Amino acid sequence: MTERLYYDDPYLLEFDAVVTRVDAQDGQTRIWLDRSAFYPTSGGQPYDFGSIAGHEILDVSVEDGDVVHTIRGELAEGERVHCSIDAARRRDHMQQHCGEHMLAHTVFARYQGFTHGLHIGEEFSTIDVTLPDGSTHIPEEELVSMEEEINAWIQRDEPVRCWFPDADELPSVPLRKASSVTEHVRIVHIFPDEYCACGGTHPRRTGEVGCIRILEARPSRGKVRISFVCGMRAVRDNRRKTDACLRAAELLSSSWEELPEAVRRLMDKAGALSAQLRSCKREAALARTAELLQEAVPTADGRKAVAVRLDGLDMETLREAASAIAAQGPVYALLASCPEPGTPALAAFVRGEGCERPMGALLTETTRACGGKGGGRPDFAQGSFTDPDAALRCALSRLTGAE
Ligand SMILES: [Zn+2]
Repeated sequence: MTERLYYDDPYLLEFDAVVTRVDAQDGQTRIWLDRSAFYPTSGGQPYDFGSIAGHEILDVSVEDGDVVHTIRGELAEGERVHCSIDAARRRDHMQQHCGEHMLAHTVFARYQGFTHGLHIGEEFSTIDVTLPDGSTHIPEEELVSMEEEINAWIQRDEPVRCWFPDADELPSVPLRKASSVTEHVRIVHIFPDEYCACGGTHPRRTGEVGCIRILEARPSRGKVRISFVCGMRAVRDNRRKTDACLRAAELLSSSWEELPEAVRRLMDKAGALSAQLRSCKREAALARTAELLQEAVPTADGRKAVAVRLDGLDMETLREAASAIAAQGPVYALLASCPEPGTPALAAFVRGEGCERPMGALLTETTRACGGKGGGRPDFAQGSFTDPDAALRCALSRLTGAE
């Protein structure tokens, strides 16, 4: 079995080892070493980057208790190699992992929440927590308070100790949760009272975690998923959000403190303008109904029909305009409108007094012939068309008897 050097010294980034086994396939080579400081993907912590004898590491995994390194390039069995580990990635993973133990401890101490597992992602890390009352919600103010508590713990710069207790000592270790392994159990103790079985890389003191930011807690399959970042990730996350906030504040000529209120005012203003615009469009559409009636053409059943496109109207106004035309006599009003450029057109078919063609059936026939969807009652039907001009021509020709 590979001797795992990171257990005793997670700060060891350069080491020498002997290649004990080689398995070359498809341009990639899997390498076994007698000893390795590379962390293999396990326990939610991804593998270390780095190189073996100058060959880039592509993956590090565990197989039958051995650490297996995948590299691009070739090495021979028995070869003595120098290995280097990517320092920034290792430090980052140590910060996220140690921060996770403190977060899981705090969730347990406060709510007896049971943490299932850690996932260190590219951007942020997550834990899934089961709360004893089955709740999937942690209030925002609680998250803020937990974040403060953990940051205070980090700033006290408490010791972190990792060791393998013997069989006599192990039962007396007050583990936060039962270990998933029974042999060769490694304990990570973060002073004063956090104990957890874990094979991950951790710093020697909590101060090295730097800081923690709890990003959010949201329900996830009956559990609470808490997202967080530690160390430089927290600094970068804060900078990105601050930058976005300041840019938005500048656009609104506001200070960042007043940004939410400035956005609220802008939304109110946009809402009022939108209502005003809708009202203008409605008045303009209704004002045209008499003029549109002049363009009515005779239908096969001795009535009249108007088929017109009036863009920019919503369904309610479109229906109102069609009804206003149909109210003026025995006339069929077939209207279509694209509410916004590029959106599918809405359609409203209304028939006036003395008209007998059912509008629901006419709309269904039209969508069948020209695409779209919709239907309705004999006196009113509504739907939508992808090609409103073709659909209106099609519907009108059915009324005039041209088809
Ligand atoms: Zn751990």
